[in-house]
Amino acid sequence: MTHIAENISATAQKIRELEAKYGRPESSVNLLVVSKRHAEDKIRVAATAGITEFGENFLQEAEKKIAALADLNLSWHFIGPIQSNKTRGIAENFDWVQSVEREKIAQRLSEQRSPDKASLNVCIQVNLSQEASKSGTDLANVETLCRTVDELPRLQLRGLMAIPAPEEDFEKQRECFRVLAEEYQRLQKLFPAMDTLSMGMSNDYEAAIAEGSTMLRLGTALFGPRS
Ligand SMILES: *Cc1c(COP(=O)(O)O)cnc(C)c1O
Repeated sequence: MTHIAENISATAQKIRELEAKYGRPESSVNLLVVSKRHAEDKIRVAATAGITEFGENFLQEAEKKIAALADLNLSWHFIGPIQSNKTRGIAENFDWVQSVEREKIAQRLSEQRSPDKASLNVCIQVNLSQEASKSGTDLANVETLCRTVDELPRLQLRGLMAIPAPEEDFEKQRECFRVLAEEYQRLQKLFPAMDTLSMGMSNDYEAAIAEGSTMLRLGTALFGPRS
């Protein structure tokens, strides 16, 4: 627990170094702290260390934390698989959803987002490794899904997200992220409001920075193993 603040400052420093190493503008890579299966008190420590954006995968667990930490003015990203019966809770409690992979889910999120709230920020989750993962839409469908989200009144299209299959080899990690980065650059010309390329987790974030990530999603590197 005492290491969380140190891990955060060391990782923030490392991100700045990697931005310089790969010719990325300073502060172009943002940090989303993934707090799934970590307790509220750890999130408070991270918030005290300056973190404002947190990612959660499970609606019930997240609803409890969001309520308990309402005094902190944090921004919450839903990053887990979405069943239709969970869209209302997501639309009501979150600021971002990074795991939209179907039209029907996008439509429900837009219908269920309260008019009193800002638009729900959306990233389309892309499946980069068909055999290894069932989550995300295929590259061939990404543009159509972006158009759907772009046209829905209560959603704001922000970008793309992917979780590649686990891979130890740095060059292979880069190749996988490059595919997403190229699609992102192509789509940005069609949807100029897109500003978020969410890729890179604890075991592959250097490769993600090298390939243009604008948002790392880190859990283990900051909080240690999940319970
Ligand atoms: C759990 C999770 C992460 C964080 O993974 P770590 O390896 O702990 O950094 C990032 N993104 C998504 C979508 C996750 O589910």
